[in-house]
Amino acid sequence: MLCKIGEIEVWRILELNGPYLTPEELFPFDASEAREAINAHAPSQLCPSTGGLILPIQGFLLKTSAHVILVDSCVGNDKDNAHPDWNQRSGKRFMASMTAAGISPRNVDYVLCTHLHTDHVGWNTKLEDGRWVPTFPNARYLVPAADEQHFRDGAGSSYAQSVLPVIEAGQAEMVTPGHMLGDNVTLISTPGHTPGHVSVLLRSGSSEAVITGDALHTTAQCWHPDWHFKYDIDGPMAVASRRRLLEESSEADRKVLGSHFALPSIGRVFAKGDSFRWEEQ
Ligand SMILES: [Zn+2]
Repeated sequence: MLCKIGEIEVWRILELNGPYLTPEELFPFDASEAREAINAHAPSQLCPSTGGLILPIQGFLLKTSAHVILVDSCVGNDKDNAHPDWNQRSGKRFMASMTAAGISPRNVDYVLCTHLHTDHVGWNTKLEDGRWVPTFPNARYLVPAADEQHFRDGAGSSYAQSVLPVIEAGQAEMVTPGHMLGDNVTLISTPGHTPGHVSVLLRSGSSEAVITGDALHTTAQCWHPDWHFKYDIDGPMAVASRRRLLEESSEADRKVLGSHFALPSIGRVFAKGDSFRWEEQ
């Protein structure tokens, strides 16, 4: 188990932990300072051999008293993907992590997508007899409505392989920020990376935590929340969401679980002047 938030068990479901693009490629408007800042604040996230940013691809499995909830489903197997490490995979690590958490696919009650990018929806479906079918046969899939509309209009392979089959199976539910899943889990609005992007607030007793999704990609963005990430669809909106999330997390003394932060990807943020300090836990 990764941690407990009050009575909620949080398990890490890790699929990949390898280098991706370089800081200069990922933060093109802030390229001159990005590598130095990441080296100073998140050195374990820089790959010594490729110089790329190491990007864990992970979901978080939540066990509340009422539900088993998977937040984000990573890249998946057999999917078409422009990124070679993510293309046509046949990996076993994701499902092994689920098993280690004591969960089989049929035990999952909800799959919650923070947004519909390819590295967050892959295990929504699996290939069976040449057809994409929901991996989690008894789950409701919660999909941010604004993202569904956006990605349906673009209709790339990720939507076709990992989102549409779940909708066609009648297992998807379009949701908006503020949506509550039982007493412990609330979707909070963090648009910008994608139009309907949500982060996930966990509350149990006096404990709070937030799963960032892609509101941030490295803890260096706590110190530099104004950096523009290459794949933020609306950069200024993403910056505003990131700042608000960091402010609220700092004020509420929440644990922060960063979906793409260097492992262990868990800590707290503290306001420091115009930015924030990350402290790993
Ligand atoms: Zn991502």
